[in-house]
Amino acid sequence: MKNKIDTIKKTIKKTAVECNRDPLLIHLVAASKTMSKEKVIHAIDAGAAILGESYINEAREKTDALKAYNVSWHFIGHLQSNKAKYAVGLFDLIHSVDSMKLVKEIDKQAKKKKIIQEILIQVNISNEVTKSGIDLTSSTNFFKEAALFKNVCIKGLMTMPPFFDDSEKCRPFFKALNKLKDTINSKNIPNITLTELSMGMTNDYKIAIQEGATYIRIGTAIFGQRK
Ligand SMILES: *Cc1c(COP(=O)(O)O)cnc(C)c1O
Repeated sequence: MKNKIDTIKKTIKKTAVECNRDPLLIHLVAASKTMSKEKVIHAIDAGAAILGESYINEAREKTDALKAYNVSWHFIGHLQSNKAKYAVGLFDLIHSVDSMKLVKEIDKQAKKKKIIQEILIQVNISNEVTKSGIDLTSSTNFFKEAALFKNVCIKGLMTMPPFFDDSEKCRPFFKALNKLKDTINSKNIPNITLTELSMGMTNDYKIAIQEGATYIRIGTAIFGQRK
């Protein structure tokens, strides 16, 4: 596993340098969903500093069992509003906030815990009916409304492009997410400055880096195929 993580880190660095980006702004999230605690510990020992979990019950158990490890836990899966109370405060960053209802619930839970919860807004950039995320057309209004919730801090955007055999086909979707970030920032909405882009997985992370990713979420290339 050390080899795999080292290779990914080298690729991040090389890709960033080639497109004149600062490699230090690109963070590797090891997507550890369904992986055993033992495997997660291996990954941590091999240099994974951020773990990305997708299921609340599994994540609560793992984070509790591994609390002695000095790592950051992110949530990258679909979050139901009724589970927000468990996610708030447990994760340093929730990547997958895909509705106003969820923003509102996270804000409420964060207020209770007297914290500011950092989140990303998931965007359905490909407009697929099967994908979660806010749609592009209503995004400005979404951010104007979300900005009013004081116990969430919106750091940026996240997306999952459709699956393609040819990863090059993901590029337009990554470009579109980056452009949306600039568009929203240009509206000067009080409280909203987007700096982070969570995009890119095992098959397409190089392209995502070229298009501005600051978080790449990698499972298979670290842990192998999920069962
Ligand atoms: C599982 C998962 C990943 C990792 O995908 P791989 O193709 O295995 O690298 C990335 N993002 C999300 C949201 C995931 O659920």
